[in-house]
Amino acid sequence: MSSDYITFTIKEEKGIALIAHDNEKPKLIGWCRKNKEILERHRLYGTGTTSRMIADATGLSIRAFNSGPLGGDQQIGAKIVEGQIDFVIFFSDPLTAQPHDPDVKALMRIAQVYDIPMAINKATADFMIRSSLMDTAYDHEVINFRKNVEDRAGSL
Ligand code: PGA
Repeated sequence: MSSDYITFTIKEEKGIALIAHDNEKPKLIGWCRKNKEILERHRLYGTGTTSRMIADATGLSIRAFNSGPLGGDQQIGAKIVEGQIDFVIFFSDPLTAQPHDPDVKALMRIAQVYDIPMAINKATADFMIRSSLMDTAYDHEVINFRKNVEDRAGSL
């Protein structure tokens, strides 16, 4: 019988998503400027406005999805499920209500399900980007989605 978990690998070249709520955008742009040499060794993705502003300020090449309130966070969640994004830097605003709060929660949840490193503030992002694991492949255990479907279809 197959196992409940399978081993996935976060490769040496990571798929990094960059997202910032409006009040946090200057902070994330500064962070990207400071860490540009590290970031340019990876594939970068981001929500629409955040990506544009970072690209304009730093020259980094970023694949932009829709703006967050228009579904960009959900697109990033989908790419986590598909295995293309495996590292998330999300400077969220803890003091301002967001129209797309359910999408933000959904993104956090899917990052947990797929055991994806996710920073929601600058200090965490600083610790993550300086980790020795940034330069190596990292194996981790993720729910075996095929077995999960087989089990559920057989038992429900
Ligand atoms: P934005 O979206 O980069 O398009 O502003 C970010 C967000 O609010 O999720």
